Amino acid sequence: MSSRTNRGILERLKNGVVQGAEGYVFELERRGYIKAGPYVPEVVLDFPEAVKELHREFLRAGSEVMVALTYYAHREKLKDVGRENDLEFMNRQAVRLANEVAREGDALVAGNICNTWAYDPQNVKESSRVVRMMYEEQLGWAVEEGIDFVISETNDYLGEALIALEVIKQLKLPAMVTLASVQQNQTRDGYDYVEACKILADQGADIVGLNCDRGPETMLPIIENIRSAVSCYVAAQPVPYKTDTRYPTFESLRTDSGEQAFPLLLEPFLCNRFEMADFARKAQAIEVNYIGICCGGAPHYVRAMAEALGRTVRSSKYSPVLELHPVLGAHVEEKHKTFLADWKG
Ligand SMILES: [Zn+2]
Repeated sequence: MSSRTNRGILERLKNGVVQGAEGYVFELERRGYIKAGPYVPEVVLDFPEAVKELHREFLRAGSEVMVALTYYAHREKLKDVGRENDLEFMNRQAVRLANEVAREGDALVAGNICNTWAYDPQNVKESSRVVRMMYEEQLGWAVEEGIDFVISETNDYLGEALIALEVIKQLKLPAMVTLASVQQNQTRDGYDYVEACKILADQGADIVGLNCDRGPETMLPIIENIRSAVSCYVAAQPVPYKTDTRYPTFESLRTDSGEQAFPLLLEPFLCNRFEMADFARKAQAIEVNYIGICCGGAPHYVRAMAEALGRTVRSSKYSPVLELHPVLGAHVEEKHKTFLADWKG
């Protein structure tokens, strides 16, 4: 194990908000390195520099956690793309890449596991055995490569999340366990999101909350209830899309012509950087401890969120100074006034 940093996740959380950043799969798909559909992070083996670059961009933008890109790098998913034999190498390599970039700053490395699609509420006993084996296998490699804590995320089932939690605790690592929130109020095995987080907290999760699926507007009200229900740390990592009461998740968003926008027609629903900055401020105000972003996330959002939290980060060097823009700036030269008039129509 490498010694990356002296301050672990729990110590940092004790001292204030920890900022995270995710959405690696979505962003690397947009950049042409991951296939939409299976969404398996083959990029880890095929274009490791692309993964490192995105880690680096998030690091410069203020993320304090490099999340190893092992999302969907599990047995079930690799079978789908015929790369089952690459399973171990893909997992180890993902953690190595995260470590390499984390060392460039003072960042933590999180091992990452997620919903497996193997958990079956109709056959809990047998499917739990399979899920546990997948998690033990993935996290075993991650621990050998060196991680500071584990993020178990987009959990559809409380039952599956509890298996993840048990495996993380067996490894004696801090556990952040966050739920998917695709359904209105409850997990797929019928637990209200708030109740499910309470159970996870009671079972020893260090950080609980939600990630993915919901944009700021529809995630924050649930997070607020989770905050009131648990005494452990709370995480919120929404998607940067304008979900609302009618379409509470990005999976439910519909285009003007009624098509499902998820996952390839989502651009018209993107939040802007100021809206994500506003989310960060609101999350901090209701005492969320781990503030991040999920699918759709990109470095400009992360920087805006960091600055909203009062931080100056490496990429703040290039934060906007529109006063220096020749047309938009305060001291508009005479020759530009006509352009400005044209722009405004
Ligand atoms: Zn996501």
